[in-house]
Amino acid sequence: MAPEIKYTKLFIDNEWVDAVSGKTFDTYNPHDGSVIATVAEGDEADINLAVAAAKRAFHRNSEWRLMDASQRWAILDKFADLVQRDSQYLAELECCNNGMLLSSAIMSLKYGVVENIRYLASLADKIQGDTIPLNGEVFAYTLKQPVGVCGLILPWNGPILLFVVKVVAALAAGCTVVVKPAEQTPLTALVLAALLQEAGVPAGVVNVVNGFGVGAGTALTHHPDVAKISFTGSLEVGKLIQQAAGANNLKRVTLELGGKSPLVIMDDADLNVAIPYAAFSIFSHQGQMCIAASRVYVQSRIYDKFVQGAVAMAKKRVIGNPTDPATEHGPQIDAEMFNKVMGYIESGKKDGAKVLTGGKRVGNTGYYIEPTVFVDVTDDMKIAKEEECLLLISPIEHNFHLTLLHMTSHLSVCPRSYGTSQIFGPVQCILKFDTLEEVIDRCNNTNYGLAAGIFTNDLNTALQFGKHAEVGKVWINTYLMMGPQAPSCGWKDSSIGIENGLQSVDAFLELKTVTINLPKKF
Ligand code: NAD
Repeated sequence: MAPEIKYTKLFIDNEWVDAVSGKTFDTYNPHDGSVIATVAEGDEADINLAVAAAKRAFHRNSEWRLMDASQRWAILDKFADLVQRDSQYLAELECCNNGMLLSSAIMSLKYGVVENIRYLASLADKIQGDTIPLNGEVFAYTLKQPVGVCGLILPWNGPILLFVVKVVAALAAGCTVVVKPAEQTPLTALVLAALLQEAGVPAGVVNVVNGFGVGAGTALTHHPDVAKISFTGSLEVGKLIQQAAGANNLKRVTLELGGKSPLVIMDDADLNVAIPYAAFSIFSHQGQMCIAASRVYVQSRIYDKFVQGAVAMAKKRVIGNPTDPATEHGPQIDAEMFNKVMGYIESGKKDGAKVLTGGKRVGNTGYYIEPTVFVDVTDDMKIAKEEECLLLISPIEHNFHLTLLHMTSHLSVCPRSYGTSQIFGPVQCILKFDTLEEVIDRCNNTNYGLAAGIFTNDLNTALQFGKHAEVGKVWINTYLMMGPQAPSCGWKDSSIGIENGLQSVDAFLELKTVTINLPKKF
């Protein structure tokens, strides 16, 4: 049974309100393309109201600014309790709106999300400055203070986790926020806003304005009263956001963007471990992860054996309704992404790579694609580089209105692309290599630098790779292993700034030096 939809309006100043324009948009279930709910569509007028509320809540004499840091922690910890309480409902909503497997959503809620909130909340009263040994009869110290009103712009691929990673870090730092969820997944952010209100967050501190990138998103990035933008999404939009952030004032910017992450399998690796991990690292969430291991480099001596195992793993994945506990592989998010992934599969075939399994649509409804394994992939193929955007008009017309809207919204500002340029689908590309030196160069030969992994039993090989991979996260004999305590970052075009870890609140703080003239040296 579909979960109850409790909230569809905008959340501004602790009130549920319609969009000023009265406009709405439909949101869909990727399993069958059916409409789940009709949601208020915010644009510039609503962003203006939300930013004004967040600005009032950030006034130096406001309840939020005068609150003890330990009280902020207590409120956010209560939020963690409430998310835990409602985790089954939130997981069902995530599954229904995003296509995430219900089993994965439950696990993510119970462990990842709640753990993240508790960790980030606990940083609220650990924010402290230094005393500075300035020369002369002075005393100097630093203060770390919240940056102000923050615009938090979210993608669709991990709506709940990414909401809490940004919102809780910003609130722990003492900021106020306006959240713009992805247009594909507007529902869970509204429930989380209601839980923050229930936890005791004062009016105006958290505001949620659903809407499209061009409209709500652009209004937020151009607003002069917004001091900071934290964005997770595609590189193309990240570049636009960086430009917009400097247009009216000099906003601080955190950008968490895409990747084309390599996974290296050395010939001394335990293939019984490496093969399932390689499948898990690309096929989890149907490949819709920024850190998906989309390029698998296999050393030539074990190449054939690895390929045989990889194909067997892909073939045995159980495809089906994400609500079914037996399902391992659900749908892509929408028609746009479905068509894009299918376009990449066609381009791989045209370029000479061979599909050993998968490559086709599953069923006639929803956006299911078979787990796909390509061999004979070379570094110069689009499927290995992902640079160009394929603008295909749909084999699937369902949801076409939204597809067109999304496309045109991007095209009006970004002529090269209408969204993410990663394949962002269940497509494993297997490439052959001979030496460690060679594979390090080939792994690094990309503008992205999000993550990389290696399977080997040689410590020296592992350490060499760990040092020379030009990425923000390296996994050795594992992949996708993360937690709130470890900083999450990317190099090159994958990221500006850090989320998680002790550094996560720094992204929402300004540093100030205070110097006091004294009659006698201190
Ligand atoms: P997207 O860039 O298309 O959209 C992300 C958000 O930006 C949406 O809310 C969208 O409405 C908004 N937006 C679009 N145009 C805008 C504009 N001009 N101004 C302001 N806002 C605008 O990305 P997506 O398709 O929703 O998400 C998938 C992408 O996110 C992938 O590239 C993935 O790698 C990336 N991602 C990165 C991380 C990370 O931590 N590095 C995590 C998850 C996802």
